[in-house]
Amino acid sequence: MAKKGKIIIERELCKGCYLCVRACPKGVIARSGAANAGGVFPVEVAGAGCIACGMCYEVCPDCCITVYEKAAA
Ligand code: SF4
Ligand code: SF4
Repeated sequence: MAKKGKIIIERELCKGCYLCVRACPKGVIARSGAANAGGVFPVEVAGAGCIACGMCYEVCPDCCITVYEKAAA
């Protein structure tokens, strides 16, 4: 069975490189419409299809994303 997951994004740490947007195979991450304190438009969770693959965590240069695997129902 495919894993299910969720992510938490530290929006104030995000520098807007959007590597995670390109890396996510499920289109879960998108650019948000509101700037953070640094004037960057950080990413946000935009979909519910996370499979806890960890790619977003792997590519983020600033460790802004934490990935959690949901327990199987
Ligand atoms: S990879 Fe990290 S710094 Fe870059 S947009 Fe995603 S969360 Fe922000
Ligand atoms: S863990 Fe994988 S599926 Fe989930 S948001 Fe990150 S890249 Fe996308």
